[in-house]
Amino acid sequence: GQTGQQLLIGAYQALSRQIDAGNVEMHARTEMLDLIVIDGRARGIVARDLITGQISTYIADAVVLATGGYGNVFYLSTNAKNSNASAIWRAHRRGAYFANPCYTQIHPTCIPRSGDHQSKLTLMSESLRNDGRIWVPKNPGDTRSPDQIPEADRDYYLERIYPGFGNLVPRDIASRAAKNQCDLGRGVGPGGLGVYLDFADAIKRMGEAAVREKYGNLFEMYDRITGEDPYKVPMRIYPAIHYTMGGLWVDYDLQSTIPGCFVIGEANFSDHGANRLGASALMQGLADGYFVLPPMLGNYIASNKFDKVDASHPEVAATVAEATGRLDRLLSIDGERTVDSFHRELGEILWDECGMARSEDGLRKALGRLPELREEFWRSVKVPGSGASLNQSLERANRVSDFLELGELLCVDALHREESCGGHFRVESQTPDGEARRDDDRFAYAAAWEFGGTGGTPILHREPLEFDYVHLAQRNYA
Ligand SMILES: Cc1cc2nc3c(=O)[nH]c(=O)nc-3n(C[C@H](O)[C@H](O)[C@H](O)COP(=O)(O)OP(=O)(O)OC[C@H]3O[C@@H](n4cnc5c(N)ncnc54)[C@H](O)[C@@H]3O)c2cc1C
Repeated sequence: GQTGQQLLIGAYQALSRQIDAGNVEMHARTEMLDLIVIDGRARGIVARDLITGQISTYIADAVVLATGGYGNVFYLSTNAKNSNASAIWRAHRRGAYFANPCYTQIHPTCIPRSGDHQSKLTLMSESLRNDGRIWVPKNPGDTRSPDQIPEADRDYYLERIYPGFGNLVPRDIASRAAKNQCDLGRGVGPGGLGVYLDFADAIKRMGEAAVREKYGNLFEMYDRITGEDPYKVPMRIYPAIHYTMGGLWVDYDLQSTIPGCFVIGEANFSDHGANRLGASALMQGLADGYFVLPPMLGNYIASNKFDKVDASHPEVAATVAEATGRLDRLLSIDGERTVDSFHRELGEILWDECGMARSEDGLRKALGRLPELREEFWRSVKVPGSGASLNQSLERANRVSDFLELGELLCVDALHREESCGGHFRVESQTPDGEARRDDDRFAYAAAWEFGGTGGTPILHREPLEFDYVHLAQRNYA
């Protein structure tokens, strides 16, 4: 938490300096609606001013998308509520391939949801697993308060199953293990969807002052949100969608399959893959282009000729008309279901069928329901207000219309990948111990999907993964 915040402050300061120097023009509260592609190359974007509703075009020699991940497709996630996938999804619709969408990271240490009113989940820092011990009651349905459950009736299941790594196993393993315990009826808290993260031993060992020094800010945040004091009672945690390893396919220059459309950070698929499970997005950032423009962007601009284009160009006008038409259509439906109710249902389907564990049956079920949900959305969503002013229902409806399509692609990708790998656990592909089993003979490739039209079949392109210096090996934390 502290590291990320310091990085953000550094990045904001660097950006502000460039704005002040006149090198960067800032358009706050402005959302990209579509990518302008002329003669097969990205030549700008269409954007909407979220305060006035005004639609504008920005013509350029190249476009760099840095619009983050798509965790919010699941409705509940640790992402900021405004994080969305519209920019990359619209670029995908224009021809940019979308790679490995089913690789999503589920973080084990989040505060469990407390009810249906919730629209966001809170992440507790990973660092808590350094000193906190994770456990559940041994007996399913044990409703005693944690201090009434003696040691003999507790199962410190990560320490038991993974003695070498204990509470520090990678995120996907810790998350799935928590789900397994809850599935066995040993979960704690509302709905039995939680496990304990207990600092009693750490306090005994290090003293409360030392624990406060290390984790005080996190304990305070937990206390404020749950009304429970983690110095006195164990925290309750449960996994939540946190980070997306899939994204727009890019080459080593961070260029998508649309020439001139570059994609950086969590918005691309890049090298996140299976590696990302135990690593840090921000550390990878140095190699992966977080905060910095792709080095090859200058070469691209220098080595191409760009015809003069303005808003009257037929492709620009057509892209504006399409983006505007979509908003007008959303406003005109005037149905009876709220945007959030569609988003919530989408999220529940994805969480149940394309979340911590995916099965062929579940994915087929999801792929049966999702097209119906999409059609129902376009028939009966209610978006009040107008497009000519601040209208958050319209903003959300626009984003959810993309999430509905992206959700389908997630399931298509998960269904086709008949192995467990990189944040994707197929129940049919596990070792006898219940661990993820890869199938490198059939699936050692990045799955790059080409848009197949709304409701159409996406087209799969396989980019083989080649390893010259290391050999693929099955993970084993037991
Ligand atoms: C709670 C939390 C804690 C995390 N902690 C860590 C950590 O400790 N270590 C670590 O390595 N990683 C961490 N991560 C992950 C890491 O923060 C993200 O992967 C990283 O910030 C992504 O950076 P980005 O610049 O690619 O995208 P983002 O930071 O998501 O920025 C994308 C920006 O694009 C904007 N945007 C989106 N769509 C549009 C559009 N259509 N038009 C205009 N703008 C748009 C968004 O509003 C946002 O400002 C954490 C993530 C979360 C949510």
